[in-house]
Amino acid sequence: MIEVSISTYFLAPLMLHLALVGLLYAWETVSLVARRPHHALSRLYRCSVCDHVYAEERDVPLARCGRCGSLNEAIRR
Ligand SMILES: [Zn+2]
Repeated sequence: MIEVSISTYFLAPLMLHLALVGLLYAWETVSLVARRPHHALSRLYRCSVCDHVYAEERDVPLARCGRCGSLNEAIRR
């Protein structure tokens, strides 16, 4: 018969469950990043000249409007 101390008897399942929770948390975090829509990483701009709303993937303070060519500041990241 295998002898197990009382602390091992209680700590081993606890450590196993904590490791399982940690693995599930890491897996969920990675899958959330993978499922994030591509447009969530871009900035949103509204043109002050023609009111055209557009997104820019680059992290720049000013982006050129695709319709009229004027530079605009981001209204939302
Ligand atoms: Zn414009």
